[in-house]
Amino acid sequence: MPGVCGRCRSAAAEVELPYARLRLCPDCFSDFFVSRVRRTVEEFRMFREGDRVGVAISGGKDSGALLHALRSAFPGLDLVALHVNLGIPEYSAHCQSIAEGLAGELGVELLTFDLGRELGIGIGDFEGTAFKGKICSACGTIKRRLFEELAMRAGARVLATGHNLDDMVGIMLDNFLHGYWGQFVRLKPVLPPLAEGMAARVKPLIRSPEREDLLYCLYRGIRFKEIGCPFSKGAKVRRMAGLLEAASERNPQFRHQLLNRFLELMPLIEGIAPRPEFSKCRICGFPSQGDICAYCKRIALVKGDRGGVPSESG
Ligand code: SF4
Ligand code: ZN
Repeated sequence: MPGVCGRCRSAAAEVELPYARLRLCPDCFSDFFVSRVRRTVEEFRMFREGDRVGVAISGGKDSGALLHALRSAFPGLDLVALHVNLGIPEYSAHCQSIAEGLAGELGVELLTFDLGRELGIGIGDFEGTAFKGKICSACGTIKRRLFEELAMRAGARVLATGHNLDDMVGIMLDNFLHGYWGQFVRLKPVLPPLAEGMAARVKPLIRSPEREDLLYCLYRGIRFKEIGCPFSKGAKVRRMAGLLEAASERNPQFRHQLLNRFLELMPLIEGIAPRPEFSKCRICGFPSQGDICAYCKRIALVKGDRGGVPSESG
């Protein structure tokens, strides 16, 4: 890419950001990335400087960029990295070593939940259940819950996750088109704690395109996983990816505009969305929409210890 950086006007531009009409050198791009994370946190009041903030890190580029950018944007923030080892042979050990390396480099404490050690299971065990062929669905429920559990163990008031702009607008648009209002409002940038003692969930990368998470990792030397999960062929292809890409080619601001319009609509949609009623799971005590929560149902499926758990898979 010819030309000099549009910010410092000295180094060669390497990154083009058409939606902002900017061409930046690696250092100015990294500053731009970190500033956007800082502004996003402030815009949505995701946390205050004195809060203890848990960051869910998987070993992937999005969550790696998130932890690094939060450390750079808020040097005095009380951060704790949270990682779930899913017990997937080779893959999980690889992801954990990346998480440990990153937390170590940044001087951030790391708390890990090891499925094998703590529960005696691995995600692969779901192959022997009704979740065969849709392991990611069970895995998603388990990860969500264990990150909440880790945030509580860490005493974090806030749990930050690495959902990027592409994730967000893709899922929002899909829910919007289907009228899944309950799921739509769960994509708010800040979700209050489900119960006393639990963490609020925040998404500081909501304005960061996925490609830029990758570039930030490359320019800042942040390692991320080099192997894929063996079950990823069961993962959902990102919803609306092709449509969003085509629209963004014609209008580089498309995803940003769509996110802004959805955020403006959020209060209206909250008004029509069904309000889930939570009680306590009779096994684990976590908030649940039924007698037994989705997490406990799935764990029981694998452990074969039904304990009165109904046999449905959903
Ligand atoms: Fe879990 Fe599926 Fe991701 Fe593998 S690809 S870690 S099974 S959600
Ligand atoms: Zn439960």
